Amino acid sequence: MPGGIEIKTRDEIAYMREASLIVYEVLDELTRAVAPGVTLEELDSIAERETVRRGGVCAFKGLYGFPKNICISVNEQVVHGIPTRRKLVEGDLLKLDYGVIKHGYYGDSARTVAVGKVSPDASRLLEETRVALEKGIAAMVPGNRISDIGSAIEAHVSPFGYGIVRDYVGHGIGKKLHEEPQVPNYGLSLWSRGQPNPRMRPGMVLAIEPMINLGTHEVDTLPDGWTVVTRDGKLSSHWEHTIAVTENGPQVLTRP
Ligand code: MG
Ligand code: MG
Repeated sequence: MPGGIEIKTRDEIAYMREASLIVYEVLDELTRAVAPGVTLEELDSIAERETVRRGGVCAFKGLYGFPKNICISVNEQVVHGIPTRRKLVEGDLLKLDYGVIKHGYYGDSARTVAVGKVSPDASRLLEETRVALEKGIAAMVPGNRISDIGSAIEAHVSPFGYGIVRDYVGHGIGKKLHEEPQVPNYGLSLWSRGQPNPRMRPGMVLAIEPMINLGTHEVDTLPDGWTVVTRDGKLSSHWEHTIAVTENGPQVLTRP
């Protein structure tokens, strides 16, 4: 366990692959269900039903006390939104963040979904955050350091003037949702002093999850104790995959 980071066996990664593919399929089902008039609670019910049908366990329900199955955040909400009876309307920017347990192992993934036609600003934020995640994933090769992931993400989004959320970061994942190491979505110049920055090795599994804001990087938590929102009320986008480091480069577990 170098630097407290677990190295997973091939079997463990296979288990994580099973959990992760359920996450992918459920997110696909939800993406298809998204439409004006649909409530967030309805999406929460679909997530539960489609997970149980596939032999998985909804990972977020009850974790740290979270009351629902899936985190759904709308527009200026960044992460950890609690599904309510709120109805989606045309133009909403929806973040679906979902986790599943199978065989005791976790998979974790998030995507941003446009409800009908969204503004050009929203559309570009969605797309560039998605691309930033891909840039971060591409940096996950053995021998690179953890900071190379955030540097790649920052290099991609900085020219757009976007704010990179600093208060929440990616993470190791395995038999627990959140394991070592923390994986910031920004380069070393913003890291806190003394934060570990180990080299990546085959068998490490990380959840990389850039949270990118149209305006300021600063966020607040609503009085419900969960929902994280942008301080300036501008839009936010969030994309996440669970990825294994292998000798042959990154293997994204949360997509086929
Ligand atoms: Mg997640
Ligand atoms: Mg995560």
